[in-house]
Amino acid sequence: MSEKDIFCKIISGEIETEKLDEDDFFIAIKDINPKAQIHYLIIPKKHVESVAFCEAEDTELVGRMIMFAKSCAEKLKLEGYKLNFNVGKKGGQEIEHIHLHLLGGKYF
Ligand code: AMP
Repeated sequence: MSEKDIFCKIISGEIETEKLDEDDFFIAIKDINPKAQIHYLIIPKKHVESVAFCEAEDTELVGRMIMFAKSCAEKLKLEGYKLNFNVGKKGGQEIEHIHLHLLGGKYF
């Protein structure tokens, strides 16, 4: 990949964002253009383009991503929520760096 994607720039601190949580593997940020009352993105620090590009070695990463989302939902005191992966341009994915949408409350 020649140029860093926007999520790599957020992870490296080149672009500022509203951070909810972070650990060694992930960052959780508020979506800049929310599609629901509560909308966060769980982004791994490892660059993988999308679910479609995950290899067997990424199995643990994907599992951990869901557990990180669960912990974010608990932090936000959400009683119910949606977790959504968009995969590929035709699946609505705009940013080619795997991320999990955490959505709660009413959709806009
Ligand atoms: P997707 O369409 O699945 O690739 O989702 C990308 C999401 O990233 C969209 O919901 C955007 O609103 C969001 N987004 C784009 N740029 C930023 C940014 N700088 N900070 C936070 N969220 C962003």
